[in-house]
Amino acid sequence: MPTTPTPAPTPTPDPIVEQIRHEIATRGRFLITSHLKPDGDSIGSQMALAYALRDLGKQVRVVNRDAPPPSLLMFPGVPDIQVGETAEGPIDAVVVMECGDLARTGLRDLERHFIINIDHHPGNSHFGAINWFDAGAAACGEMIFELVRRLGVPLSREIATHVYLAILTDTGSFHYSSISPRTFDICRDALEAGVDPVMVARNVFDSNNLGRLKLFGAVLNSIELDPTGRLAVIYLNREMARQAGGTYDDTEGLINLPLTVREIQAVVFFKEAAEGEYRVSMRSKDAIDVGAVAKGLGGGGHKNASGCTVHGPYRDVRDRLVGLITRAIDATGA
Ligand code: 5GP
Ligand code: MN
Repeated sequence: MPTTPTPAPTPTPDPIVEQIRHEIATRGRFLITSHLKPDGDSIGSQMALAYALRDLGKQVRVVNRDAPPPSLLMFPGVPDIQVGETAEGPIDAVVVMECGDLARTGLRDLERHFIINIDHHPGNSHFGAINWFDAGAAACGEMIFELVRRLGVPLSREIATHVYLAILTDTGSFHYSSISPRTFDICRDALEAGVDPVMVARNVFDSNNLGRLKLFGAVLNSIELDPTGRLAVIYLNREMARQAGGTYDDTEGLINLPLTVREIQAVVFFKEAAEGEYRVSMRSKDAIDVGAVAKGLGGGGHKNASGCTVHGPYRDVRDRLVGLITRAIDATGA
């Protein structure tokens, strides 16, 4: 006897998303922001929501403390993102994405407003009037996709492009363990809505200049390995950048390259910010939790991608991080 396939269960609507939908419906003027030095997920998530809210007839401004990376200026609406230090003008709600706390925005005076906090980083401090936190999302863009659906806004090519940009970049081009079937469901929908994945990848990954390439060369030339060969340490200061003809802004993506070596399980990248002050970025494979390492040092991030700022003589901070990350590698038996 032929059987009727059981339909997939309809997911129960998340009450927090429903609450956000309600607050958006009853408000008219929105400010959207994200963290300092915005990346693909922060830009993509902000712009996807901005387009969706505008489609609903809302007034929307996107304001960031730092300018978008040059490689993202080709994407729709990105050149119109305002760079500022404060939340000015009439605002009915501020949507903050990708920030563990309000200070990560770098904007002043946000706390005076009704704040909708949307994030997927472990350790979010729930600073908003509404806090939507989903550590299972591979990118904040996945959450925004769900919100756009809930708002009933059709998936325009602009919205879909920004959601796809967010996912492509925040999964490290589909390398990180945060990827789920939902990630690909969303990408499929994005492509059906007209996203050109080749164009997105070319703009994100193939917009180098020669200074950037030489800078990569200089940094990779000075790579150090721990005695077991599982941890790579890379380093950059302003003089190295100047000699290569690049800047600190040109280092996006550089940290991922040592992980292309089979034996290397984790990378730590030190950028000298000032005398005795270093910006630290970490990346790891599989179960190795560099997010916990960063958090223990006052920073944050995810299991496979994290960062913090440390102080002290370079040898001391390097040895400290090498010790902590080696322990994190050992804990997984890698
Ligand atoms: P990146 O190495 O690309 O700067 O950062 C990797 C991840 O760690 C990102 O998700 C970023 O948001 C997070 N992250 C980097 N630096 C910090 C920091 O100083 N504080 C916090 N809370 N998160 C950070
Ligand atoms: Mn993200």
